[in-house]
Amino acid sequence: MSNTAAPPPPPPPHIALLPSAGMGHLTPFLRVAAMLSSRNCTVSLITACPSVSAAESAHISFFLSQHPKVNHIEFQVISSPNPTTDDPFFLQFEATTRSVHLLYPSLAASSPPVSAIFSDFAVASSIASVAADLGVPNYSIFTTSCRFSCLMAYLPTLLSNPSCFASDLKEVNVPGITPLPIGSIPPPFKNPYHLFTSIIATNSRALSKSKGILMNTFEDFEPETLAAINSGMVLENLPPILPIGPLDTFEAKKEQDEDGDYLSWLDRQPAESVVYVSFGSRTAMSNEQIKELSDGLERSGYRFLWVLKTSKVDKEDKEDLKSLLGEPFLDRTKSRGVVVKGWGSQQDILEHAAIGGFVNHCGWNSVMEAAQKGVPVLAWPQHGDQSVNAEVVEKAGLGIWERSWGWGVGGVVVGGEEIGRKIVELMEDKKLRGLARKVGEDAKEATATGGKSQKVFNEVLEYLTQKN
Ligand code: UDP
Repeated sequence: MSNTAAPPPPPPPHIALLPSAGMGHLTPFLRVAAMLSSRNCTVSLITACPSVSAAESAHISFFLSQHPKVNHIEFQVISSPNPTTDDPFFLQFEATTRSVHLLYPSLAASSPPVSAIFSDFAVASSIASVAADLGVPNYSIFTTSCRFSCLMAYLPTLLSNPSCFASDLKEVNVPGITPLPIGSIPPPFKNPYHLFTSIIATNSRALSKSKGILMNTFEDFEPETLAAINSGMVLENLPPILPIGPLDTFEAKKEQDEDGDYLSWLDRQPAESVVYVSFGSRTAMSNEQIKELSDGLERSGYRFLWVLKTSKVDKEDKEDLKSLLGEPFLDRTKSRGVVVKGWGSQQDILEHAAIGGFVNHCGWNSVMEAAQKGVPVLAWPQHGDQSVNAEVVEKAGLGIWERSWGWGVGGVVVGGEEIGRKIVELMEDKKLRGLARKVGEDAKEATATGGKSQKVFNEVLEYLTQKN
């Protein structure tokens, strides 16, 4: 009989996380970082410097204060000498891609050595060579729906046919999934030279170099699409799609608004009586549309909590609530409505028992947060992936979508009367409420111990631990 002790188990892996620009990209990375850290992994969080929005800097600092064991690697990005857009987020995507090679020395010198990189889809092509030089796998993290991911993955093929987005077409075909109505395709896709389009096409071409694609979705939410993409029906050479959502939320940064604490205001409202309105972190509606929305909220007769932004980048948001909405509106609605200018802690708002519905643009993080809490959504897509995401929301039973409203940004102005009617429909649809509740139950089951998403995440960590 040998009495040699079993070798010690391999240490948990060291994961370097590289998000891209904007809260919609940073938030899922911070959530994954918190999940990894709670499983004793060594975590390095890489952030581009300077960040575009004040919200990003504030949330990075807050996260690091709550997770002191996480290493922070800041790197200076090189901006384009010839910018082709004035969108600061797209420019930062491009600048990050251009600068990714600069990360090699600090990653190569890391101790313990880096076991894997988890990086944003937006840097898939440039990070591939850094990961190869380090001899570690790169996992891409997608910050959108699986359905939109299929469209992104197939985009290079679509672009190779000049008539693929012709205006007389009714729909766009991506193998394996139901056709996408032409109205859901982001308008920039019709221009192959648009920075948004070229970033997606370039990174899609490099996806086969990723070890896997981690996605903030869950099987019961997008079952057919996940099955199609994972059986090679969309494209043959894609790495496995790994649904790990809805990502766990961690302690949020709660900010007080000027007019008081909206969370304690919610505490005083009856259950499911408040409609929550927010269009994410970087959508600026026109002042005209904001006025109509205020009218709609008032006409609906429902209590409301409205987190309002008037500029794409928060640092530039100078509008004052009184001049924007008018004192008479604020006076008339003060007993049943709160308008927060700037930032509200959405995960805490959605979790609150007083919230009965969510008017939202269908940014994918917002969709997953609503799914996790089982809150019914009135989808009002504004740009990018949001119309495709709205289709997913509707199909999954989480929400309703008025297609005739089109794209919010750059589209028609929707009148207050119509908005009010739709809000009433959202708040009074009992069938929808039941379906949304069921989505919430499925979401919780997916991430609970032994749940499908948790299993997928554990398997990735197990693989990386064994490789160590
Ligand atoms: N968010 C928030 N408060 C706000 C605006 C946004 O907490 O006032 C969070 C929201 O919960 C989500 C993220 O910021 O996690 C925004 O991402 P999403 O994909 O929903 O939309 P985007 O801002 O990218 O359009």
